[in-house]
Amino acid sequence: MLKNVKCARCVKCGKEYEAVPNLTSCSCGGILDIIYDYDYIKANLTKDKLKSRPNTMWRYRELLPVEETTPDTPLRVGWSPLYEEDRLAKLLGLKKLWVKDDGQNPTASLKDRASAMAVAKAKEAGAEIIACSSTGNAASSLAGNAAAAGLKTFIFVPSRAPKGKVAQLMTFGANVISVQGNYEETFELSKKAIDKWGWYNRNAAINPYLSEGKKTVSLEIAEQLGWKMPDYLAISVGDGCTIAGVWKGLKDLYAIGFIDKLPRLISAQAEGCHPINRAIAENKPWEPMEENTLADSIAVGVPRNADKALMAIRESNGIVVNVTDEEIMAAQKLLGTTCGVFGEPAGVTGTAGVKKLCEQGVLGANDTVVSVVTGNGLKDVANAIKFCGEPMSLPNDLDLLVEEFTKRGIKTEA
Ligand SMILES: *Cc1c(COP(=O)(O)O)cnc(C)c1O
Ligand SMILES: [Zn+2]
Repeated sequence: MLKNVKCARCVKCGKEYEAVPNLTSCSCGGILDIIYDYDYIKANLTKDKLKSRPNTMWRYRELLPVEETTPDTPLRVGWSPLYEEDRLAKLLGLKKLWVKDDGQNPTASLKDRASAMAVAKAKEAGAEIIACSSTGNAASSLAGNAAAAGLKTFIFVPSRAPKGKVAQLMTFGANVISVQGNYEETFELSKKAIDKWGWYNRNAAINPYLSEGKKTVSLEIAEQLGWKMPDYLAISVGDGCTIAGVWKGLKDLYAIGFIDKLPRLISAQAEGCHPINRAIAENKPWEPMEENTLADSIAVGVPRNADKALMAIRESNGIVVNVTDEEIMAAQKLLGTTCGVFGEPAGVTGTAGVKKLCEQGVLGANDTVVSVVTGNGLKDVANAIKFCGEPMSLPNDLDLLVEEFTKRGIKTEA
């Protein structure tokens, strides 16, 4: 029995379930939300207590749906740096900007937070095999975290998954099935296989514990800011589990009195695939869209967690912004050149959204913003090289180097 959790409740019909480790969706098809006992948490967790905890996501145990006896998972997940970026803030015309580089997780994306949770819950369930379908990062993070914990994995990825992510999967020893089709078809095949063989399910919108893992990113942001919250928190959105998790974390902290203000969420999606943002903008139920963007991690035409994501954006009085692939790649370069942070396309989409909102005058000189970079640029080097270009190439000849510098107008002084 989880002492800090009351139950899991369907976001659609309100039906309540006991929070057993292998919980999936409601019988009505709705997604479950973990309901905490905030009185218990308040009585057991203080800000002071956190100071002596390990620098991983497991420092927030009282706010996570795991048994006291469940061990921390082996890889160091969480406590990624939150950089105060004064130069970029000035460039964009913001009062303050922080960049949370979640590409610094062990398998290089925010998904490690969910996968570590999946591994912890699979262990509680006594499962030895975990499966998932993913555009790449859920897969590689599950493969890595499971390998470290001695669990076997079956992973379904769409054939367009970038090579860096597939290389991770193969290195971590997963059983990888590259599905000839889009993410939707990949998800369907994984579902059929999971039903057939009864593996532990790490599909984020099905397993209600995973967004609880993802919420640790906002718990960290709050702690790293000394519990003083920014006006806005920007994040890229695909299935919607991350933004829903981020909101859950903020509401948890508010409920236990650790923060006294809730930031407004900025939901950033690709122009070529923005079913969640479209639903908000047009105030209509979401509808499927084409998956037409190079930001593979958020190329999700049929979002699996739209209900929770839409609720989170609406409750926070959030802002939606869609960015083109060119704007995404420009943001990648901007983060690289001004912050030294290298994000994958979906990883920098939140920042691309912030930049666009600044240009549109929606955000400005009075606003403080945290932008989460959700995945590392090394996952997809092909697109980075395509947009940032190849280096100059020369033989070992100083005269030619001087000539080339002159030709390109490169100054050799600071
Ligand atoms: C998965 C992912 C997202 C979006 O998360 P969702 O839960 O699908 O909305 C954003 N960026 C990166 C790098 C991701 O891997
Ligand atoms: Zn239900």
